[in-house]
Amino acid sequence: MSNLPSLELQGHAEQVLADRVMLVQLPEPYPDELLYSVIGRYMAHLRLQRDRARSALFGHRAKPQIGLPGCLGELADRTSLSWGKTAKQIAYELTLFPYFACYLNKSRVSQCLACMAECSPSSVYARLGASSATIASRRYLAFCMQCREEDMSLYGETYWRRCHQLPGTFVCTRHEQVLSYIELPESNRFWRYMDATECTSELCDPIMSDLGSKASIAFAIAKRSCDLLRGTELVWSKDGIVEQYRAAILNQGSTYRLGMISYPDLEAAITSYYSESFLSLLGCELIGRDSWLRKALEPSRFTVRHPLRHILLQLFLEQHSQQASVLARHSRASWQCPNPYFQHEQIYTMRLHVGKARTDGVRSISAWCPCGMRFTFSRVSVSNPNLPVIDTVRRFAPSWADKLRELRASGIRIREIASLMKLPFASVKTLLSNAEPVLGLESRKLMLRARWEECLSEVPDRSRNLARRRNKSLYAELAVIDPEWLSATGTRLNRRRSMTDEQWRVRDREWAERLRATADRLLEAGSSRRVSASSIVLAAGLKLWVFSKLHHLPQCKVVLSRGA
Ligand SMILES: [Zn+2]
Ligand SMILES: [Zn+2]
Repeated sequence: MSNLPSLELQGHAEQVLADRVMLVQLPEPYPDELLYSVIGRYMAHLRLQRDRARSALFGHRAKPQIGLPGCLGELADRTSLSWGKTAKQIAYELTLFPYFACYLNKSRVSQCLACMAECSPSSVYARLGASSATIASRRYLAFCMQCREEDMSLYGETYWRRCHQLPGTFVCTRHEQVLSYIELPESNRFWRYMDATECTSELCDPIMSDLGSKASIAFAIAKRSCDLLRGTELVWSKDGIVEQYRAAILNQGSTYRLGMISYPDLEAAITSYYSESFLSLLGCELIGRDSWLRKALEPSRFTVRHPLRHILLQLFLEQHSQQASVLARHSRASWQCPNPYFQHEQIYTMRLHVGKARTDGVRSISAWCPCGMRFTFSRVSVSNPNLPVIDTVRRFAPSWADKLRELRASGIRIREIASLMKLPFASVKTLLSNAEPVLGLESRKLMLRARWEECLSEVPDRSRNLARRRNKSLYAELAVIDPEWLSATGTRLNRRRSMTDEQWRVRDREWAERLRATADRLLEAGSSRRVSASSIVLAAGLKLWVFSKLHHLPQCKVVLSRGA
């Protein structure tokens, strides 16, 4: 025992070490805490000299490792009294190992565990596919400001969480907030265990100032990364993962040709889904013939794939298969309105319209409901395949808007309301910050009726068809919320029955008046230019078939021949 370093420790730990030099009393880890963080707290509490403490923990002066530390066997022995965890337990509970090991085969996992129990962390990185050759490891420690606040009030200190240090994770999944970060010192020589409470006491920068349109994707990546770390609720089971991917691509169809995956098509689709800049931010660009995607889909059990690439591929395939199934049955299925605050007489009364594909390849479906709800969706609820999950709210139903205002007035935060109601945050925020109230269904009906009447008065013969073409969205909404009234308004020309002479005379008088006014207006506007008869007709809002009916319209004929 004489070769063990003499320790300058204080307090309780000193007492323990004096009795049994081999043992170390590390603090109890908090939920999801990194081993690195536990050691950081331990050293800050005791104000230890860093080299001595490291030797005391690992048996030699090991370099601090954040995600995948080595020498866990030694550490397990030395903490046996306080923790009683094996090296394997420490690897699974206090390091990022389970995240990297999630989709590895069993023999590879036990190899890596053996490496971590011994003192060769660098070989672990390579074996797990986590070496800097694949995706550069982070040069910073990340944390969430809100998690920190909660920790401080709960424990009086904070700590580094495992889920915040995962590659590609930019947001806290609990608070849906962009993480802040502390840079690591440049040189390895100065590396020490950084205590979270001490390092984050001053204001820190967020990793990214604004995620913009990538916010939902960044959240999905963070969420999936957490799931891999905890090994729970895996959407894609661990066995035969490559076969699952290939089957999903086959089902998707568009990038599968003549029995082979068309890599250029698939790569283009993935790049447009995530955008090139976002992929390069993650270190996952799809460039060249040996891109990671091709390796990921190679049916070889020796290929090691970085978990982040699994995640990117999974999220892409899920989005597209969900969307494909929604699109495939959009016209056949009966869709349920997601507004729970309106007594729908029939549940399935929504009208749907499939939009053009956006730049990222997603096609959203717009839906109108008689309750006043108007929204787009591209996914359905997991529990009920007839219930759409709202992407954006175009217009809130009055009943739902009232409920949201009520919740807000009772002091609940907008973000909580949005997550409670499974609504997009932006839509709720817009509604609540909008000063002017959403009209009740009845008053909205009256407003739309007035606008429709105005529209009818502007078209010849109060033709419903012409008015509809002038204002399609107005017509579409009325057709949903007030169909009977709408069908009773205006006139519908019956092509088969010819018009009576009296009707022609009335029309001739009206149209001639209209054409004369238009011709005068046009001549005034451009006095030097000749105005053609057809431009007068069009400017008056009439159709060119007027010319073939001039024998019925003598007054119009006079006006047009004079103007031309
Ligand atoms: Zn948080
Ligand atoms: Zn509805």
